[in-house]
Amino acid sequence: MKQIVGRFAPSPSGRMHLGNLFSALLAWCSVRSQNGTMVLRLEDLDPARCRPEYCEQLKEDLLWLGLSWDTEQTKQSLRTDAYRQEFQKLENAGLVYTCYCTRNELHAASAPHASDGNVRYPGTCRTLTAQERAEKKKAPCWRVCVPDEVISFADGLQGMYAEKLQDDCGDFIIRRADGVYAYQLAVVTDDAAAGVTQVVRGCDLLSSTPRQIWLQRKLGFDTPQYYHVPLLLAPDGRRLSKREHDLDMEALRQRYSPEEILGKLGCLAGLNPEALPMCAAELSACFSWEKVPKRSVMVDPACF
Ligand code: GLU
Repeated sequence: MKQIVGRFAPSPSGRMHLGNLFSALLAWCSVRSQNGTMVLRLEDLDPARCRPEYCEQLKEDLLWLGLSWDTEQTKQSLRTDAYRQEFQKLENAGLVYTCYCTRNELHAASAPHASDGNVRYPGTCRTLTAQERAEKKKAPCWRVCVPDEVISFADGLQGMYAEKLQDDCGDFIIRRADGVYAYQLAVVTDDAAAGVTQVVRGCDLLSSTPRQIWLQRKLGFDTPQYYHVPLLLAPDGRRLSKREHDLDMEALRQRYSPEEILGKLGCLAGLNPEALPMCAAELSACFSWEKVPKRSVMVDPACF
């Protein structure tokens, strides 16, 4: 049987919070319970949001919790050449064009995508002539032409999921106007380079997956098995996020031991019936995807 290779792919844009830990714990337990290997990749693509000091802090926090990795992949900010190569393959296939639309124009022209507030790109710049492009005064971003095709896949936790790329997202950005290669292109390039066979991440990325699978097919990469884990929500339905300072690693480490945090998370994940302290190895020993809830999990920050 093929060796399982999983990954942590955190963005160093702040201290990890409970939602990040929940995904990281499940990724770790899934890989470790199948004797797989774990790759750490710091997704510091966005220079405006990511800081080097958060990279070190992230690693320190994961190790403090006992969530170890076997190899560390080069961080995304240093992998521009690899992304450029894949970008060029798409460009050589005639699939890439420059787009001059502003965010405001797009929001005015299109209804928000029901699931994640993204707008479907209506293809405005797809058919511009060379002359029209030359007359634009604005730095463009680069989009890839998606086919009129349904991309479906069997998520290990959520079941079948399908999107018709043209209707659900339209041609999407693979390189931003500031020259930075976009997340969708970077993530498939990196997962392929690291030989990742299993991706465990938050449900907020479920709707990105058909785009990523389509890119993998175009670029000749294998598609990993995906597991999209539920988001943690506050009682008012808001997503717990990095703004929730009371549940970030800094605050959690002041109050609890690693085993206390993991025991509580393991209970939210359905692995242990009570929130008793447990270490990562103990949780991976009782891990099974059948126990993990599919839908959002409520967490009251006041009672955690
Ligand atoms: N870097 C992303 C995040 O921290 C995760 C991307 C992925 O797992 O594909 O939300």
